[in-house]
Amino acid sequence: GFRCGIVGLPNVGKSTLFNALTKTAAAQAANYPFCTIEPNTGDVGVPDKRMSAIAKIGKSAQIIPTRITFVDIAGLVRGASKGEGLGNQFLANIREVDAIVHVLRCFEDDDITHVEGRINPVADAETVETELMLSDLESLERRIVGVRKKAQGKDKEAMAQVPIMEAVLARLQNGEPARVLLASFDAEERRELRNLNLLTSKPVLYVCNVAEADAATGNEYSRAVDEMAKKQGARAVVISAAIEAEIAQLGEDEVSEYLEAMGLTEPGLDRLISEGYALLDLITYFTVGPKETRAWTVKRGAKAPAAAGVIHTDFEKGFIRAQTIGYDDFVTLGGEVAAKEAGKARDEGKEYVVQDGDIMMFKFNV
Ligand code: GDP
Repeated sequence: GFRCGIVGLPNVGKSTLFNALTKTAAAQAANYPFCTIEPNTGDVGVPDKRMSAIAKIGKSAQIIPTRITFVDIAGLVRGASKGEGLGNQFLANIREVDAIVHVLRCFEDDDITHVEGRINPVADAETVETELMLSDLESLERRIVGVRKKAQGKDKEAMAQVPIMEAVLARLQNGEPARVLLASFDAEERRELRNLNLLTSKPVLYVCNVAEADAATGNEYSRAVDEMAKKQGARAVVISAAIEAEIAQLGEDEVSEYLEAMGLTEPGLDRLISEGYALLDLITYFTVGPKETRAWTVKRGAKAPAAAGVIHTDFEKGFIRAQTIGYDDFVTLGGEVAAKEAGKARDEGKEYVVQDGDIMMFKFNV
């Protein structure tokens, strides 16, 4: 599956958020650094309002959301790239995720120690990013020696890698993360960059953890983060981990009342999960039947056989075609039969690129 790593300095609220996300006590929240030593992993359902509309029309007995994985990654401190704290372990854990959810402390609380002794989320973000850049710099400088040698020996792969590595090195030496290069790279160069599996080439979402009272409006800290994110072409969301932890304890019928009291329209976690999903560049297609309406995840740009393969490898191997109805057609026309009559149920073949919201039914050989 697809994985988002939750990172940030100690005591910013990572574990609180992770616990709320997974509603488990697996990640321990406590007021001291290095509490979360093992990477904790949890699957969460991706909220999607379209599912209830489809299930109603399709008279499905059940709704099954698609899922993504969050990993609570142990606290990073200044000096981690040089092995401080849980440095190396932390960095190895980041290597294994597809995207980074970077939690920043935007709440004041004299009882909760801040490792740097002051609240400044933009400086915190730079501290973490610097450690990631130093780690990438060190690993690239080490790896490029061998790759250069191979390139001199006319190794095709190495010859393609060297200019990418040099471009990234130049940026890192200039204090910029590898991901700033993505915009100017073509598909081939991006693939090369991805293969390097650098920490700073992964997409980032900033999470501003604010006090309960600021959850609806944000505060001066979160606005500073917003500005920083905008400059980087990244996104930021405002969340109160304390509120989310509270919501996780409530019964379903109590949630909306509590949200209203807090001036909120939906749980922050729903937004966080959706943003995480977008960060991974994922889209959803649906299958519908009397048993269930179900959401499935594919990478944007995936073709129909690969989408079928998410359900079962046999569907991909024996793929013939996919009956496909766009979400809007399905809902406005009122279901499969009506969509067929209106000529809106398309037969798509092997080259079809799946669109977000497609309602699909696969025909395959067994
Ligand atoms: P981590 O080290 O980043 O995983 O941080 P934790 O989630 O363990 O939180 C550290 C401490 O801060 C715990 O005592 C939490 O209860 C507290 N905390 C987390 N989020 C908030 C918040 O939004 N407001 C306040 N006041 N305290 C929080």
